[in-house]
Amino acid sequence: MSKTAVGSDVEAYCTKCKMILAHAVVAMEGAKPRRVRCNTCNGEHNFRAAKPVAKAASKKADKPAKAKTTTKRTRQSWDEVMQEALAKPHKRYSMSGSFGEGDWIEHATFGLGCVQSFVPPNKITVRFADTTRMLVCNQS
Ligand SMILES: [Zn+2]
Repeated sequence: MSKTAVGSDVEAYCTKCKMILAHAVVAMEGAKPRRVRCNTCNGEHNFRAAKPVAKAASKKADKPAKAKTTTKRTRQSWDEVMQEALAKPHKRYSMSGSFGEGDWIEHATFGLGCVQSFVPPNKITVRFADTTRMLVCNQS
């Protein structure tokens, strides 16, 4: 077997073709090739005996998964809140009823809403899907 020297062919990993290919040695470093030129794409680059795998590949693989979990719903949309609220007990709204902050009420016209605050002595602000309304309560 002939000794590797400048100009001889070696198998090396091509950074452009991304595979092991025949390369011509451009520069030597001791007994090893230092720079090579790809016979396929003619690209000149540092000599790599093998594909630089494992570490970089696995890092890439689990990065998107991590990003997905961290960006997962920081804030619920109103639709999601409504879906959850439908499963919870809610009161039917009437002017004679008494409601407190956090109560879910069902209004005949406006639908489901969440009581934002109680305004003494007889009003509540309620967030509905489209807007927040002030409603009367505690009427006898
Ligand atoms: Zn190449």
